[in-house]
Amino acid sequence: MLNESSAYSLGIDIGGTKISTAVVNIKGEIITKTRIPTNAEKGVSEMVKRVVNAAEKTLQSSNLEKNKICGVGIGVPGPVDYEKGVLIFAPNLSGWRNVPFKKMIQQRINLPVYLENDANAAALGEKLFGSGRDVNNLVYITISTGIGAGVIINGKLYQGSTGTAGEVGHMTIDINGPLCECGNRGCFEALASGNAVAREMREMLSSGKSSVITKWVEEIKEVKAEHVFKAAREGDVSAKKIVEKTCRYLAAGIGNVINLLNPELIIIGGGVSNAWDVIRNPVMKELKKRVFSPNLDAVKVVCSHMGDDIGVLGAAALGFMNSKNFHDRCF
Ligand SMILES: [Zn+2]
Repeated sequence: MLNESSAYSLGIDIGGTKISTAVVNIKGEIITKTRIPTNAEKGVSEMVKRVVNAAEKTLQSSNLEKNKICGVGIGVPGPVDYEKGVLIFAPNLSGWRNVPFKKMIQQRINLPVYLENDANAAALGEKLFGSGRDVNNLVYITISTGIGAGVIINGKLYQGSTGTAGEVGHMTIDINGPLCECGNRGCFEALASGNAVAREMREMLSSGKSSVITKWVEEIKEVKAEHVFKAAREGDVSAKKIVEKTCRYLAAGIGNVINLLNPELIIIGGGVSNAWDVIRNPVMKELKKRVFSPNLDAVKVVCSHMGDDIGVLGAAALGFMNSKNFHDRCF
């Protein structure tokens, strides 16, 4: 008989600057964790070697036998061919294309490996370990430098026809809006991400408007989204204007998702969610204007409580999801 306390998953979260690996139990508790720099510029094979080393070390320090690990989940910052385990494209990893991570890592680590987009993995993490535990229809939206999402429908990750569903960051919000990294204009990400917030403030300061932020940075180009939220908390007029505008765009994007999918729960994660205290009320107020009322009545919008660990926990959830022993009971 399966003993839940003796089953573990190994999560690997590959980000643009750092890679985290963690051994996680079925309750979502991290047993051991390692963090290494990504250094994508040194190439794919070099990185894979370091990832496998880090994963083996994490496993060793957990004092667990390898056969206690039911799977290895990997979250990557880009679209994925889930069946083949191939990262299709990653602008944050030196623009790598068609990297067969699953095969490369599986043959070195000798455990079953599953690859998924990091936002999809995070949605699974919330479903298995977080606020989404008792919820069957939820959307995890990560708002940081960019915007991405993972969609859980009827308890299962919705991957779409080719595995790249949930690209909410590239929904058009303003057909004449600013240019997005993807080449389109007025994407949700170009208007409401952390990068967009910082860009708005830089433009405001360059046009001669005043803000307390000029005391915190030496040059305008150093302005980040967190400066804007901090200034807004202090009552800075310029920052408050930007936050108000951003919240309208956030509500437009989140509202579109609620109207389309009628979820029970929206979980907001990523760096901008650290400003939940500032953005929650204006976003909720705006959602009331924009969302079809039966859909609004049905949904709760909350901030993720998993912090920086959402990446490895999501990746670990992927390992559990694919384990025969856990799949039916967890998802
Ligand atoms: Zn776009």
